[in-house]
Formats: sequence, structure tokens, C-alpha cells
Amino acid sequence: MIQFLQKHLSMGHKSAQGLVKGSLYNALYYISLMLPMSLVYYFLEDVLPRMKTDQEFVFRYTAYAGLSLLSLLISAFFYYKQYTAVFVSTYEESEGRRIRLAEKLRKLPLSFFSHKDLSDITNTMMEDINVLEGLQSHAVPQMVGSAISALVTAIGVTIWDWRMGLAVCWIIPIVLILTLLSANFQKKHLKRHFESKRRVSDQTQENIEHMADIHANNLTERYLAEYKALLKEEEDRHKISEIAMSIFVNGGQSLLKLGFATTVIVGTILFEQGSLSLLKYLMYLIIATRIYDPVGSVVYNLSYLYYGAAPLERTGDLEESEEMSGESDVRFDSFDIEFDHVSFEYLEDTPVLQDVSFTAKQGEITALIGPSGCGKSTAAKLATRFYDPTKGSVRIGGHDLKDINPETIMSNLSMVFQDVILFDNTIYENIKLGRKDATKEEVLEASRLAHCDEFIRRLPDGYQTMIGENGARLSGGERQRISIARALLKNTPILLLDEATASLDVENESKIQAGLSRLIQGKTVLMIAHRMRTIEEADQLVGMVEGRVVEKGSPEDLMKKPDSLYRKLRSLQLGDEEAG
Ligand code: ADP
Repeated sequence: MIQFLQKHLSMGHKSAQGLVKGSLYNALYYISLMLPMSLVYYFLEDVLPRMKTDQEFVFRYTAYAGLSLLSLLISAFFYYKQYTAVFVSTYEESEGRRIRLAEKLRKLPLSFFSHKDLSDITNTMMEDINVLEGLQSHAVPQMVGSAISALVTAIGVTIWDWRMGLAVCWIIPIVLILTLLSANFQKKHLKRHFESKRRVSDQTQENIEHMADIHANNLTERYLAEYKALLKEEEDRHKISEIAMSIFVNGGQSLLKLGFATTVIVGTILFEQGSLSLLKYLMYLIIATRIYDPVGSVVYNLSYLYYGAAPLERTGDLEESEEMSGESDVRFDSFDIEFDHVSFEYLEDTPVLQDVSFTAKQGEITALIGPSGCGKSTAAKLATRFYDPTKGSVRIGGHDLKDINPETIMSNLSMVFQDVILFDNTIYENIKLGRKDATKEEVLEASRLAHCDEFIRRLPDGYQTMIGENGARLSGGERQRISIARALLKNTPILLLDEATASLDVENESKIQAGLSRLIQGKTVLMIAHRMRTIEEADQLVGMVEGRVVEKGSPEDLMKKPDSLYRKLRSLQLGDEEAG
């Protein structure tokens, strides 16, 4: 049972154990609710008629009251036990599941995120896990508890008097079979509803992200029309899925009432024939009003399980996605980065890199050049193992990156990319992210070298200033200087610079250059700089066009070639700048 739950509800072992315990306590709780009724019968049938003296009456009556109280306490005890077992394990499981998924996301290749929407993943992390939380805390324990108690009661009442037992219970298997047969129908409509709910949520997020563009391009009407159409579709599908569910839940619960009718008919006939006592007949009528509640609960919770099928599938898919793995304990004798006949595509049949080969040597600056979109950033991303190549291999010090744990790779390189990620924390903590164990002096020193110090000191709380989500309160140049400070602090053998100086003004650019030249000494530097002036000092240039390497060599050598890409880009850009 525990393994079954682990597999089908993708739960941890401890939570599955908690759920089984909770379900059993739930069954005992439902069964214990029948105790007061059994006591009434016993008292009326066996005790009352035999009492002769007042003394006996008082004694038996007190005993009955005591037993009733005891049965209440037993019910309360089971209720408490099921509540703690189920809810404690549920909340632990939800927390554990979110942590497992977050860990998983960290280890997935970035290619995974090219196929998935961000809001899709966020929805799985939050909403889907909430649905599973409901399954675990309510649906499963209530269903199992109700099913066991209904079964025990059904067996009991059938043994007591099989004729009346059949009259009460015949309808139960019919309703359960109908509910089970409706599974695919219910799941289909629920899934369609979930899908359109996702689309609404994707669209909402996209609209918020692009609000400025929507206003700037006068797209408000179009965006509202599209959004309304999506909402309407979601509403329609929601109604259909609700109807599909309620037909079977309410229909099943109504159908169960037929059992009450047959109990009355059979009971009346048997009573008139004299083969059923009035008291027993009345007891069966009471039982008939009680036994259908747990069966109705089974029907309702089965539908709840169908409701959880789609979120369960999505969470399971995420948990089973293939991670990037590899050796953690790798000894590097050198930090040369080698691209060996590398091809790569983000989306199938759209090649971005084709047969790219070059070596970025340790102690040298290798600059990738070429027109926008030719694949420079993609090559840099392959060097960090954000993605694995589709063909060929990328190696560091002779080790294929495919065999190295991404965390090991990341611990050996720093990046200063265009899209700097800053966290909603203080500036100090954002710089310290480069190296967690850095001292305050080291953080300040890195900040000075990257020329961050001057603008940070002008901020109201200096280094303790909160910088807002993704550095919203900082300019592009300031953000990039922070990321340079981080790289300086991390001080790794490999440095990747992408547009390192793109958002800086001329004065800052030369300051940064001074900082960077300290940083890059003796390191493997792979640089993508669009400004030709900043790459004049590179040892090797790799010219790329449409994902292919078209030339390699030092700036001086390439300058000498009359039709080199470098020469063309340089004259184009410097000419423009001079003309501008
Ligand atoms: P560069 O750095 O030379 O400007 P990129 O490496 O950023 O070029 O992009 C190369 C090509 O890959 C472009 O056509 C770009 O649209 C595409 N591309 C970049 N990132 C992605 C992505 N995450 N998913 C799909 N295509 C991408």
C-alpha cells in the first residue's frame, strides 16, 4: 500500500506511511460513529425488557450513559489521530515536494526551459502541488476511510439479517461501478479545463511583462480581445468540467437513495409477515440513512482523484525529467576550453551552431566576433554547460563537459553576461554572491576594482541598500559593474565575458577595462564584445557567421587580410562611430 501510494501519488516514504495511518484511523473513526447506534439497539432490545427493579434500572441506565460517553471519546480519539497523521504528513510532503522540484529544476539542462513556459513551471510548483495537498489531506484518507467503514457496515448488516442487508446494500456496487466507468470522461473534461486555465495564466503573465510594449504600440484593444476570448474559453470549459463532475457525484448520491426505498419496501413486507421485529426494522431504517454517507463520500472523493490526475501527471513529468549529471571530483591540469566540431540547436531543425571548432587557451583572451544572432552567446553558454551540444564536444582541460557535474564547472568559471541576474537583497549580499565565504574587506576590494564603490556610496544606505527585484533600482551600467565585482570576488580560472562593457559610458568603460585587465591575468577568457575597440587586445579572434566559424587568428593577422570579417566589422563600426 505504501509503495503503491509512493508510485501513484509520487510521495516520499514517510508521507505515504502517514497517509496509510491516517486513512486507517479515518476508517476507525467512521466505524466508531456506529457505536452509539449499536448501544441504543442493545439497550432497547436486550436490557430494558429484562429490568425489574428501580435499582437495576438506575445501574443499567448509568452503565449505558457511561458507555455512550466512552464511544464518543473513542470517536474523538480516532478523529484526533487521523487528523494529526494526515495533516502533518501532508504539509511535510508538500514542503518536501516543492524542495525536490526546486532541486530538480536546478539540475535540469536549460534546454528543458526552452520547451516549457515559465508560468507553466510556476503553476506546477504552486497550484498543482496545492491540488495534490488536497488529495493527500482530504480525498485519499476520506475515501479509504469511508470505503472501509462502508464495507464493514455492509458486511455487518448483511450478517445480522441478509434479507435486509441486501435491501440496503444492493445499490452500492452499482453506483461505485458507474463512478469508476466515468473516470475517462471526467478526466478528459478536467484536463481540458486545466489546459485553458494554464493558457489564461500564461497570457496574464505575458501581458504584465509586455505592458509597456502593449501601450507603446497601441495594442490595448487587440490584447483585451484576445484575453477576453481566452477567459471565455476557460469559463466554458470550467462549466463543462463542473457539470461532468456533478452528474456523477450528485447523480451517484441521488441514486443511492433508491436503497432507502427498497429498505422500506422489504422491511414493511418482512414486518407484516412477522419475520422482522419492529425494533430491528427501525434500526435498519437508521442504518440506511447512515451507510450511504460514506459511500457518497467515496463517490465524491473518487471524482476528486480524477481532478488531481492532470496535476499529478505534470508534477510527475517534472520529477522524472532527465537531469544533467557528471563527475564532481575532476582534476583539471589546464583550463583550455576546446570546441571540437560542435553543432547545436535550441529547437529541432533550427541549427544555431554548425561544426564549430576552436580552442580558447589558458592565459589568453579569445574573442568571439560576428554579426548579431550568429551564435556567440550560444557558444559561451555551451562552455558553461548550460546546454549540451547536439553533436561534437566541448572540453575543459581535455575533460568533456558532458561528463562533468555542472556545479563543478560553475565553480571554475565566472560570468559577466548581458542579462545580469540580481536578487532582491542588499547590494552587499548581491556582490558577495560571487563567493559565499568572502570577508567584508574582500567584498569592498572587489567593489572598488569594478568601480562600484563610487555609486554605491551615493545610495541612501550604501552597501546595505535594497536593490529591488532584479536590480530594478539600478541603471544598466551599475548592474553590470556589480556583476563584474562578483566575478572579481569569485576569482575563477575561467572567465566568460558577454558584452561586458556594453552598457557603460566611455569614462566608466575605461575604468572597467582597468579592473578587468587585473581580473583576466593568467585566466582563460572567452569574450563576446560587439565593440571592436574592446577586443583589440585579444590574443585570438574567432569570427562567426550564421553559426559557423569563418576565420581565426590574432587581431593583427586578421587585420592584414583584406576581406576578413574582423576588418569589415571594424571598419563598419569605427567608421560609423567616427562619422557619428
Ligand atoms: P549572438 O550572441 O551572436 O547575438 P545568440 O547566440 O544569442 O547570438 O543567438 C543565436 C541564434 O539562436 C539566434 O537566431 C537566436 O534567435 C537563437 N536563440 C538564442 N537563444 C535562444 C533560445 N533560448 N531559444 C531559441 N532560440 C534561441
